Amino acid sequence: MKSIGVLVLQGAFIEHIQVLRKLNVDAFPVRLPQELQGIDALIIPGGESTAITKLMQSYNLAEAVRGLVLDGLPVFGTCAGMILLAKSATQMNSETIGAINIEVKRNAFGRQIDSFETDLFIPALGEEPFHAIFIRAPIITKAGLEVKILAELEDNKSVAAIQGKVLVCAFHPELTDDLRFHRYFLESVAG
Ligand code: GLN
Repeated sequence: MKSIGVLVLQGAFIEHIQVLRKLNVDAFPVRLPQELQGIDALIIPGGESTAITKLMQSYNLAEAVRGLVLDGLPVFGTCAGMILLAKSATQMNSETIGAINIEVKRNAFGRQIDSFETDLFIPALGEEPFHAIFIRAPIITKAGLEVKILAELEDNKSVAAIQGKVLVCAFHPELTDDLRFHRYFLESVAG
């Protein structure tokens, strides 16, 4: 069985651990660089990307994660996790990890409607729409040719993507009962 690390510095990490348990996968909380040893894949949850970045820097995690991802460790970033994995993001004072060749706009839906839910058609997950929860979500504003966009909103805003073993989405699949996004990561990306 695979061991999946979940970054537990800040944000919605408990819900990811619960989803992994539902899928009968061992979830390992990661707070320190040595806790990255022995994991087969990593999930970076949503939360506040600036806070997670600061904590990653003080725990020396950013460089360790970048090194592992460049070495091929499969990684799944949701919302703030997507921001951290992107090549660049707006309103970020510090460097992102740059694991996937996308540019991201933080808080892309403004203040009034900064949280909403919608059903998305995500061909990689099958016919049935995926109920996506967006909480002060980012969007992908630019993607390199090596990036495959997996989901778009009706106005063509890109909200999920994959490049090699790096999977990202702007919404929170861990807050629904639909396990397909995590299963896709485990089977098709980390498998
Ligand atoms: N707005 C947050 C940020 O910019 C992301 C929100 C989330 O992860 N739900 O970091």
